[in-house]
Amino acid sequence: MERVDTLTIGAGGGAYPAAFSLVRAGQRVFMVDKKGLMSGNCLAEGCVPSKAIREVAGFLRRAQQGQEFGLSGAENFDYAGVIAHKDRLQTQRYQQHDRQLAALGDRLKLIKGTARLIEPHVVEIEMDNDVGRYHADSIIVASGADVAVPPIPGTEYCLTSRDIYALDPRLARLPHRMAIIGAGYIGLETACILTVFGVKVSVLEMTGQALPGMDPDFVNQLVSLLDPRIDLILNAQVEKIEREDETTRVYYRQDGREKTIEAEQAMMAAGRKPVTPEGSEEAGLKVEHGRVQVSSALQTDVPHIYACGDVNGRSPLFHSAVRQSLVAAHNILAGNLPADYMDFDSVPTTIFTFPEAAYVGIVRDVAKRRGLSITEASYSFADDSRAQIFHETTGELRLFFETGNLRLVGGWVIGIDAANLIGEIGLAVSGRLTAHDLARFPDQHPMASEGISKAARSLF
Ligand code: ADP
Repeated sequence: MERVDTLTIGAGGGAYPAAFSLVRAGQRVFMVDKKGLMSGNCLAEGCVPSKAIREVAGFLRRAQQGQEFGLSGAENFDYAGVIAHKDRLQTQRYQQHDRQLAALGDRLKLIKGTARLIEPHVVEIEMDNDVGRYHADSIIVASGADVAVPPIPGTEYCLTSRDIYALDPRLARLPHRMAIIGAGYIGLETACILTVFGVKVSVLEMTGQALPGMDPDFVNQLVSLLDPRIDLILNAQVEKIEREDETTRVYYRQDGREKTIEAEQAMMAAGRKPVTPEGSEEAGLKVEHGRVQVSSALQTDVPHIYACGDVNGRSPLFHSAVRQSLVAAHNILAGNLPADYMDFDSVPTTIFTFPEAAYVGIVRDVAKRRGLSITEASYSFADDSRAQIFHETTGELRLFFETGNLRLVGGWVIGIDAANLIGEIGLAVSGRLTAHDLARFPDQHPMASEGISKAARSLF
């Protein structure tokens, strides 16, 4: 049986940062991925392609607001051109990853195949024309997540994010009407993009809140700023989906009444679920609600087997997976003793709606749940120079400090540049900075980050 130092199951964000780092430290590493490609679902059908389309919608949105800026026209667009841009970008990034892989030489191998755990140190790989068994001193399970499809009749008639964002996507022409099932971040982002492109969108959400699980005050503020053309239907329990000719019919129950929505297309955006490799539990991993259980050192119950990224369900975001992967690499190099830990409280999350919104760390509802007394400081974009320059003066930036020592524990931004601003706030959370530290930093003018130090200064 061939031996390697470390084997990763998956080659996405939870796997390759560790693989690269371990190879540089002298290890021999195999990455196994069903797709035979490095970078996982983020590049295949997630963050990167969705943002490629989203930013085109952003250009169009600005062009549509052009009169405010003394511009006119630029309302026409060609969706085929938008897809071509997205596909080009994905291809370019795959080529970039190929070059990065090649530069590491033969100590790192990417195998196209499906991996399963046979024993705590043995992985079997089913390749196109072969099956092989490998012995690995350490294993990183980074098998990611997949679209969750609820057990409702007719889900086969729904598109998923894959059909919209994958290379050469199934949705090549925009429908006039789209029904989106699920108001999580994928559903809401897609709703915003399609609305800018002129599609009439309804979003059906089973719970009483869009973005379930997120702070209700944060969500309410964001939802109040979304394009009112988006028809957001809460407490809507979808019961079945039917398709006849060119019409998809979504049947749902709301307040005890049966209702129907007709659309040209429906999209299933009811969340994502972890994908665990076969044999995980037999090899000794604990799996609860489909998630492989890990410590904050990313170790499973078997100390030399790590589970990083979406598969552990702790914080299913690419950048979180990258940091988790590096934590695992450091602990592997330390002989499978915990030498590095993941700080799940300083992972920023952005919802790329129009406007965008982001948060990090302990925000209002989490503080309440944990019984932590917090002091809030806020800044309104109505007063912000950059927001005024862009005519985007809605929303706010809000910082949460531990009462007493004024250490920053979290923050949210709803509105202009939220995805960027949350980076600075997240770094301050992770660096355990206080309101005094933030107040002393000369944030740039005329950028929206001025709001961070201004909010902190409001406490003094
Ligand atoms: P993460 O960001 O958590 O690493 P991704 O979804 O980006 O997750 O990447 C996971 C990758 O793992 C995907 O490319 C998927 O095809 C691959 N994968 C999932 N299960 C297996 C398996 N049993 N064997 C090999 N590859 C797998």
